[in-house]
Amino acid sequence: MGYFTDTLRAMRTTLRNVFRPPTTVEFPDVVRPRAERFRASFALIDDENGESACVGCLTCEKICPSQVIKVKASPKRESPVTGKKRAYADDFVLDLSACIQCELCVQVCNNDAIVMVREPEQPAFNREDLVLGMEKLRANGRGKTVAWGRGTGLQEMQESKPKVEKPAKPKPAPVEAAKVETPAEPAKVEAAPAEPAKVESAPAAAPAEAAPEKSDCSAAEEAP
Ligand code: SF4
Ligand code: SF4
Repeated sequence: MGYFTDTLRAMRTTLRNVFRPPTTVEFPDVVRPRAERFRASFALIDDENGESACVGCLTCEKICPSQVIKVKASPKRESPVTGKKRAYADDFVLDLSACIQCELCVQVCNNDAIVMVREPEQPAFNREDLVLGMEKLRANGRGKTVAWGRGTGLQEMQESKPKVEKPAKPKPAPVEAAKVETPAEPAKVEAAPAEPAKVESAPAAAPAEAAPEKSDCSAAEEAP
């Protein structure tokens, strides 16, 4: 009996969904609009002279937690465009299949040479097809939509981040206030004037006793 009712319930769910519009699309023929900050792959940017902006400083290679970047730096040489000496990267390889998309490589690049792009790479059957070489990365920089984040911009954002002040801890005010307001001490202070009253009475008695002595002395002096 239980199997029969379960089957009927499953059939009811199936029939209900048959007439609903599909919630999937035929990717890659149809691409859904992506979020503004969607990032999927990488690119190397050319500078204003048409050369790769990468100077082979290896910073991105060193910070990559997945160790999927390999840069072959070259000694400084004259630029064929400007004639000035500058550093180059002779080779640049990024293994996208093991990348965790942390974007640290983009954040540390002081030349804004490596960036992320919004279009993903074509799905592949082999891992080797997701290893991006220098030519592929430079082609991405020319043909794909570059994401908003650049190394220098991201660094400035972190430096100008306002410090969040922690709210002050509430003081145990009621306990201290109760101690201050204890009426015991003022009561002692008010009782103090009682003693000066005794002191004032003492000098009054002293002249009374001294008076006869004075009279004696004066009598003794007067006697001879
Ligand atoms: S991409 Fe940037 S951080 Fe990486 S080697 Fe080139 S210049 Fe250095
Ligand atoms: S985004 Fe990918 S390549 Fe860049 S540092 Fe992170 S893991 Fe490495």
